[in-house]
Amino acid sequence: MHLKTYRFVTFLGFALWAQADLLACGIDVILRYDDYSTKSPTHIEKQLFEAAKSVDGSILVGIVPFPDLEYPQDDETDFLPPEAPLSETKRELIETYHRQRVVTYALHGYSHKNNLSAESLSNGGMQSEFAVLNPQRQKNLLRIGKAALETQLSAPLDIFIPPFNSYDESTLGALRQTGFKLLSASIHRDIVSQGLEFLPAPTLYPQYLREVTLKALSRHEHGTILVTLHPYDFVGSNTDFPSYRKSSGSPMTIAQFREDLEYLKAQGINFISIESLRAKGVDLSAERLLANRPLSYSFIIDHGVVPNWLVAPPMPEVYRSAEDANHDYLKILLSATVLHGLIALLSASISRLLWLRLTGYPRLRTAGLFAVIAAAGYVALYGYKIGFYSKISLIGSILTGALLGIGMGCFHSSRARIVLPKRSPGDFAAGMHAKAASKTYKSNEPFQ
Ligand SMILES: [Zn+2]
Repeated sequence: MHLKTYRFVTFLGFALWAQADLLACGIDVILRYDDYSTKSPTHIEKQLFEAAKSVDGSILVGIVPFPDLEYPQDDETDFLPPEAPLSETKRELIETYHRQRVVTYALHGYSHKNNLSAESLSNGGMQSEFAVLNPQRQKNLLRIGKAALETQLSAPLDIFIPPFNSYDESTLGALRQTGFKLLSASIHRDIVSQGLEFLPAPTLYPQYLREVTLKALSRHEHGTILVTLHPYDFVGSNTDFPSYRKSSGSPMTIAQFREDLEYLKAQGINFISIESLRAKGVDLSAERLLANRPLSYSFIIDHGVVPNWLVAPPMPEVYRSAEDANHDYLKILLSATVLHGLIALLSASISRLLWLRLTGYPRLRTAGLFAVIAAAGYVALYGYKIGFYSKISLIGSILTGALLGIGMGCFHSSRARIVLPKRSPGDFAAGMHAKAASKTYKSNEPFQ
């Protein structure tokens, strides 16, 4: 093949490949609806399931089995409530859409009550049904909820959505012991468990699904986006919109939500089910969760050590593959190292130069040294109390570099001071050394 033709074909091939990569949609969206129970708004739920169906989508439905029931005693290990969890209307509705593969069942707590004390809540604790209960009680509630729903719906159920997305180590053990396979909740700061599948729920509400998904597409992100829906997200549900969300949104109509789904579907988004993820062999392992966790919780991310203008922060709504998450975190780590390393190096060079230039001004040197130490102390205290956020971490690197530079300057001076006293008349080598030192520092003053 002629060289020019070969180059043209290669270029064309690369352009087509690049274009295909740009056009490929690497985002799947999981719709998760929480708080389905006998008491939840049926008319909203029917429209919601229809909206999911209209885009050939699926919706993971977290069912609260016993909203009004007291817990059994811990020693009642064979207890089963006498009544079925769902009313006939609610059973029929969810079974209808389950048969059409629109709905996937999940257990969403037992009664969904908050068990965290008022005192802990006022001290900044988060609401939780499960995380504060003893292991035996957690296991008992999971067993009862699962058995009651499986019996009523005549279908297996192995997905758990903890109320308030809150769980602890005992919950993970209890899930494994009671036959659950997948947990959908927030990414826990500390714990993760082998032997379970994970599909984390970021803080993403339906009002922002369109905007966030389009942003992920424009950034060519790959992964899964899970959006959590509640009855109060929709106009006409007759449930109170939470006060903590009033500053950043309001309920939307089901028609608006359906329009958003249809728009995203037209952009190539799939509203995929857990069953399809499993059938496609999508990684839901603990390893993937562990790889994603530093993108949500790590010193660098928590404190914004890398400025946004250098590396765009990872989108917390996108659950990346383990490989992508490791790659993204490595990129952030390298950027932080290079940025802060260069700043510290530059600062060290300047401060060393200044230190050596101020040979004849001992008071100025002392004042400069104290100023840098005081500033470093202030930054350390500020960082300890408030955090090393972007600007303060940059100042910290400058001061660290400055201290390093002064240290190098002192070391250089002390070495030179050791050499100088050796100068004596007649000692040619020492004389030459002192001459060279004097030339280097351009000062006739003795070293301080
Ligand atoms: Zn809930």
